[in-house]
Amino acid sequence: MSGPVLEVQDLKKHFPAEGLFSPEPPAKAVDGVSFTIDEGETLALIGESGSGKSTVAKTIIDIHETTSGLIRFNGQDITNPIRKQLAEMRSEIQLVFQDPTSCLNPRRTIRKSLLVPLKATGVPRSEREDRVRQMLERVGLNDEYLYKYPHELSGGQKQRVNIARALAVEPSLLLLDEPTSALDVSVQAKIISLLEDIQAEFDLTYLFITHDLSLVRNFADETAVMYLGEIQEQGPTDRLFENPRHPYTRSLLSSIP
Ligand code: ADP
Ligand code: MG
Repeated sequence: MSGPVLEVQDLKKHFPAEGLFSPEPPAKAVDGVSFTIDEGETLALIGESGSGKSTVAKTIIDIHETTSGLIRFNGQDITNPIRKQLAEMRSEIQLVFQDPTSCLNPRRTIRKSLLVPLKATGVPRSEREDRVRQMLERVGLNDEYLYKYPHELSGGQKQRVNIARALAVEPSLLLLDEPTSALDVSVQAKIISLLEDIQAEFDLTYLFITHDLSLVRNFADETAVMYLGEIQEQGPTDRLFENPRHPYTRSLLSSIP
């Protein structure tokens, strides 16, 4: 495959103000964002809370309709996707959220939580059980976890399940929205290390969203700094950390302990 895996051009997502006749202007959550991510690379999207990072991810994966702009995945226009594209995207692009609990149905066993997306994306029945076991094992959870419920797992284990579930449908792009922000620092490092290992093993491309700059330095090839719905500065992570050009990037970096 030549060209970037993901290409976002002048993406805008404005939310209308509450109420039909509200005098308030629409919230410009994302207001003209452009970036590309090459195969196997990680782009970190950083910035303080409310800067529009999650909205970028949700617009890419069509939780939100795009106000304007263009999103291409492996060269194909997937902006406000048509039905067929949506079906393909369900396996090709996976989103892993911050809160490991809210994405797992409390009444489903871990096994069931992993089986559901396999069925939905058309994996043959005969392959599903093996795939569930393999993926759980790959994220460090043995067969004992198959019949456990989410409340029996720690935060880190739940996030491992979410990663296994995303991996099971064989995606090529993962949108990681603060995947470790709800976890203890010691657990964070383990999850980041797992994400690094599987990236190489499964040829994954990452959009890694975080407000925690200390996680980005060793993990991301490129970094984009968001503020008020716009990217203020982007470039190779090393360059950005060593020689930040934008005053906002400098102020963010100076806040790292
Ligand atoms: P971040 O992930 O960087 O913390 P978000 O993308 O969640 O930021 O939010 C960016 C801005 O968009 C915020 O001002 C937020 O209040 C607003 N926003 C996000 N989602 C919605 C929504 N569904 N409706 C209205 N406003 C929203
Ligand atoms: Mg967010």
